[in-house]
Amino acid sequence: MQKYIICNADEGEPGTFKDRVLINQMPGLMLEGMITAGYAIGANKGFIYLRAEYRFLKKKIEDTIQHFYDIGLLGENILGKSFDFDISVVMGAGAYVCGEETALIESMEGKRGGPRTKVYFPVERGYLDKPTLVNNVETLCVAARIMEFGSEIFSKKGTEDSQGTKLLSISGDCKKPGIYEIEWGMTIGEMLDLCGADDVNYIQFNGFAGTIRTKDDLQHIISGVEMGNKYNPYIRGGGSVMIFNSKRDIFDILTNFSNFFIAESCGLCTPCRAGNYLIGKRLERIKNGEATYEEIEEIKTWGKVLRDTSRCGLGKTSTNFIVEAIDKFPELFKQRGLEEKKFDLSAALNDYYDYVKNN
Ligand code: SF4
Repeated sequence: MQKYIICNADEGEPGTFKDRVLINQMPGLMLEGMITAGYAIGANKGFIYLRAEYRFLKKKIEDTIQHFYDIGLLGENILGKSFDFDISVVMGAGAYVCGEETALIESMEGKRGGPRTKVYFPVERGYLDKPTLVNNVETLCVAARIMEFGSEIFSKKGTEDSQGTKLLSISGDCKKPGIYEIEWGMTIGEMLDLCGADDVNYIQFNGFAGTIRTKDDLQHIISGVEMGNKYNPYIRGGGSVMIFNSKRDIFDILTNFSNFFIAESCGLCTPCRAGNYLIGKRLERIKNGEATYEEIEEIKTWGKVLRDTSRCGLGKTSTNFIVEAIDKFPELFKQRGLEEKKFDLSAALNDYYDYVKNN
């Protein structure tokens, strides 16, 4: 049966740049991971779905693919085995939602890049309705390293629930931003020492849809379980770490995140399309000191609605940041809340209709 391997190089999560470095510095490792995956599942065709903003890396990848053909690691009868494997590059067009695997596949098929309803997962019916394995660049590179060094070395590192190492893309208010390969289980405090962050108020882990840590969490370890929150109890995530110091206005940060989700919602389903806009409006009121305590609490209910009813991960996780921020910084929200002046939902909806007309 025809099967496919797709390397998801649509690295669009804000704050994440490890895949860019992996592709730029060791494109062969990514190809090795794809070939290994193809051999393991019996696929003979692989695609690298490269985000539009990484077009400058296309030539390097294609030159490396050609080199692999020249030395017999791609093509027919690889290493004398009855195994054929080809790889080509497909360009994305710059939509955040196409990092979601089914939206990515739709985009590759020449359709609008929107997530599929999960009647079938890609491993059952993916690209062109055939079984398809979609993994990101780091996963495939790690697979190649495990093949090279053996699983025992890998599984001895890390914690029980998160074995091995993880790449972190660290940015923001620290002296040494960049890519760090850490062993799962390092504490947040150790990580901050490594990158030279000495004034930390707010840390956004795993992108805008990830989870928040504060200066009170320095003893927490970095692992799938420890990075989880009550909505997503286990997060390995993209490994981005955005550090904000005490001089940053947390409401500016949250507004930035909110605007991102409003812009990147693909618009297919109402909870995400309208919900993110309305949450943005409420956030604006909170920022301006115009919201009631009741409204602030209501955001948590709206967050649950988005989590339960959105079609894909973008909508489901798009309110994590604000709901978590309310829990993590209760005093800050309390200072901005009022007893009166209720939120006018119909006025906000009218604004929303205007927004839809104009965008
Ligand atoms: S949750 Fe958002 S991004 Fe996902 S399908 Fe619905 S509108 Fe599109």
